[in-house]
Amino acid sequence: MKTLPAVDVVVVGGGWTGLLLAKELGARTSLSVVVLERGGPRKTEDYAAGMDEVDHNLRFAMMQDYSKETATFRHTARDRALPIRQLGNFLPGTGTGGAGEHWGAHCPRYQPDCFELYTRTVEKYGAKRLPEDHAILDWGVTWDEIEPYYTRADKLIGVSGKAGNLRGKLIDGGNIFEGPRSEEYPTPPTKIPYYSTLFSDAAKSLGYHPYPNPGATPSQTYTNPDGVSRPGCVYCGFCDRYGCMIGSKAQPTNTLLPVIEKHKHVSIRTRATVRRIVHGVGRDVAHNAQAAAAIARRARGVTYIDANGEELFQPAEVIVLASWTLNNTRLLLLSNIGEPYDPATGRGAVGRNLTHQILFPAVDAFFDKPLNRFMGSGASGMRISDFDGDVFDHSNLPFLRGGTLGAMGTGYQPVTSFGAVPPSVKFRWGAAWKKAAVEYYDRHGSLSFSGEHLAYKSHYMDLDPTYKDHAGDPLLRLTLDWRDNERKMVEYATTKAVEIAHAMGAREVSSFPGYGHYDVTRYQSTHVQGGTIMGAAPENSVVNPYLQHWQLPNLFILGASTFPQQGSANPTPTILALTYRTADALVDRYLKNPAPLA
Ligand SMILES: Cc1cc2nc3c(=O)[nH]c(=O)nc-3n(C[C@H](O)[C@H](O)[C@H](O)COP(=O)(O)OP(=O)(O)OC[C@H]3O[C@@H](n4cnc5c(N)ncnc54)[C@H](O)[C@@H]3O)c2cc1C
Repeated sequence: MKTLPAVDVVVVGGGWTGLLLAKELGARTSLSVVVLERGGPRKTEDYAAGMDEVDHNLRFAMMQDYSKETATFRHTARDRALPIRQLGNFLPGTGTGGAGEHWGAHCPRYQPDCFELYTRTVEKYGAKRLPEDHAILDWGVTWDEIEPYYTRADKLIGVSGKAGNLRGKLIDGGNIFEGPRSEEYPTPPTKIPYYSTLFSDAAKSLGYHPYPNPGATPSQTYTNPDGVSRPGCVYCGFCDRYGCMIGSKAQPTNTLLPVIEKHKHVSIRTRATVRRIVHGVGRDVAHNAQAAAAIARRARGVTYIDANGEELFQPAEVIVLASWTLNNTRLLLLSNIGEPYDPATGRGAVGRNLTHQILFPAVDAFFDKPLNRFMGSGASGMRISDFDGDVFDHSNLPFLRGGTLGAMGTGYQPVTSFGAVPPSVKFRWGAAWKKAAVEYYDRHGSLSFSGEHLAYKSHYMDLDPTYKDHAGDPLLRLTLDWRDNERKMVEYATTKAVEIAHAMGAREVSSFPGYGHYDVTRYQSTHVQGGTIMGAAPENSVVNPYLQHWQLPNLFILGASTFPQQGSANPTPTILALTYRTADALVDRYLKNPAPLA
């Protein structure tokens, strides 16, 4: 295998996390940085030609190719896992910008107590209230430590919204249940679609506290602290699963690339698929025992396959894994770094605490008037947090934690949004269905619930013993199912949503049937967490609170794979905040003293 000239830092993955770290290193150091991205290059202008709904929303033009690499799935360790053959439950990205190019840009923060979930829950309800078999852990960071980084992330991507808790002062019209923010949102809320105002009025009439959903589809032209400008959103309704035609929605290519491109010491190599992180003592090391012992505790670089199919070794002083939850976990397992998690004994940490956001349409509501739902943006709409986290008392409820309920105006696209009919229409085919589908195309909306998923000992990832990818490496195996806590939470949220839909004046309401077993064919967000989790102790986590590997101090891991469990909110603001925190620790401390960060 050919060895390339060494660089200071190699970053695996060119999505939000990898490119944010590369941007920070580019601006704040003179280190040579190479980003290896498995997909092709992308830039803002690529999206100007317009949107093809069939290509993007049905054929998933921007997503990972499952015919080359997928994961296998099973509900329990007793089952035989089978490959997920079609994109369904989540939609991983590929190419420069990763999933950050086709994300929806909702930008909520986690509840403050999410970061100390174990401690806070036991304090309030006692250890006996935790579900049997839970694997809930504190993160090793607190709200006060992460809040300034949330603010930097908000400013980077220009989040639009209205504060509901500014330094402890509650503000009507914002989310009064959010953690105290140090600053107002960088831009005011987006326009609120008509359908979302119906929700807002109804929720208020029932005593709830609606607020504009925060999003990185800015309400007006915004220039971030790096000097990068993006225009305000025009509400075309093509965000989620698309790149933005006008460069308004924050994406790595329109927010980070313009800065990275100014730094000649940072480069991005596309069509470069990393296969292993090389670590320990190699044949090229001198036979000096002391040097060998030190090198054994370091990562030495990565191997990758380039566009011509050639496998190359890229040596580096610092290795940053930023390839999204499943790939980060798989690369550690394939590289034999750390002990794989064993649910039978509880030993090992790599692969543990797999969680997936609870996301479902709690009701479908049908109205007797047009709702103009074709206008919207990925994140515009109204939400309530009255049932989020632990803001409501769970003493007499059959579940812990909760989530947020919203009426979003993400834009009704003609092909994929067509076909919903109320329960009174008995058939799902034929002339009567077609007539009703046309009538209700713009008279229909759903109320969606985003809920928190707890971690369990029996939900994890490991290498599949049977199935392999196109290059012959074992696929990642996911073991996951819903439990009673999630099922009861879903039931509770659905009842609340039905109540609100009726108060909105819906003619007919159909409610979500409930959670049975986890289903890989239903899309339920690409918010998948765990596998390389952060924590306060090396016994039960893979990285320390600065996302530095416990055993290999020159290896850093970014992204939601480091979340011990999931909060109800969409993860990217938390991911970006933690990436900024790692960038500070790397530049200000590690580079001066390359050792474990206390
Ligand atoms: C349809 C959709 C909507 C979403 N909406 C929202 C939202 O509204 N709000 C929110 O907070 N989040 C949302 N997300 C999630 C958000 O996109 C992710 O949280 C975010 O992109 C994660 O950033 P990342 O850098 O960790 O991973 P990614 O963006 O996935 O980037 C990882 C990169 O690593 C590359 N890679 C993987 N394996 C390798 C390898 N072996 N070698 C080299 N490169 C590799 C991939 O090609 C990819 O480009 C959405 C996601 C999707 C798919």
